[in-house]
Amino acid sequence: MKTIGLIGGMSWESTITYYEIMNKEVAGELGGFHSAKILMYNVDFAELEENMHQGNWKGNAEILINVAEKLEKGGADFIVIATNTMHKLAPDIEKEISIPLLHIADATADVIKKDGIKKVGLLGTEFTMTEDFIKNRLQDSGLEVIIPDKDDIKIVDNVIFNELCLGKVLDPSRREYQRIISGMKDKGAEGVILGCTEIGMLISESDSPLPAYDTTIIHAREAARHAIK
Ligand code: GLU
Repeated sequence: MKTIGLIGGMSWESTITYYEIMNKEVAGELGGFHSAKILMYNVDFAELEENMHQGNWKGNAEILINVAEKLEKGGADFIVIATNTMHKLAPDIEKEISIPLLHIADATADVIKKDGIKKVGLLGTEFTMTEDFIKNRLQDSGLEVIIPDKDDIKIVDNVIFNELCLGKVLDPSRREYQRIISGMKDKGAEGVILGCTEIGMLISESDSPLPAYDTTIIHAREAARHAIK
């Protein structure tokens, strides 16, 4: 079995889900007492969050490259970054390590395409929704991607940073997300990507107006499968 190098803590709430799913997936596939081989580095999200909102992506790249190098030296066979937003720095990290990085958008696109879906809505942080690092990767794999309008982008982003990343799960915010997903459905989306690793705390398949693709679940499962392939 390969060892997963997990960069967690962004936020730690969603890293718990990664940890649980990876172990469940390996146990489900191999049975018995099997569990996932995981080498995890949990960052202090406060440092990264501050850098991010000050536009100091260089500072975040330095932190994450350093962490990825540590995981590689420690024996990880591949790297998993447990957040969508920090995939903005995936190319910088990949340049500095010699083990592969399992990209969250690739894993997500594969699952969506298997379901025959062509047009998807994307929810995530403002960075993820408005910049290209996730969207382009999804589009390159043949998906049409739509995002909410300007005001709704602010609402979605605000819920992530001021509630979910602080462990707050609030009903009014769930209703706002449902309204926004319904709006994307009206624009022709056949599914919605929960493209922030905390959104699954708020919305799941059962209360989403569109089939929901939770990047946390998809990414963690794919990492576990990759480890035992
Ligand atoms: N976990 C979130 C994501 O998947 C946001 C926190 C972060 O910026 O890393 O994008």
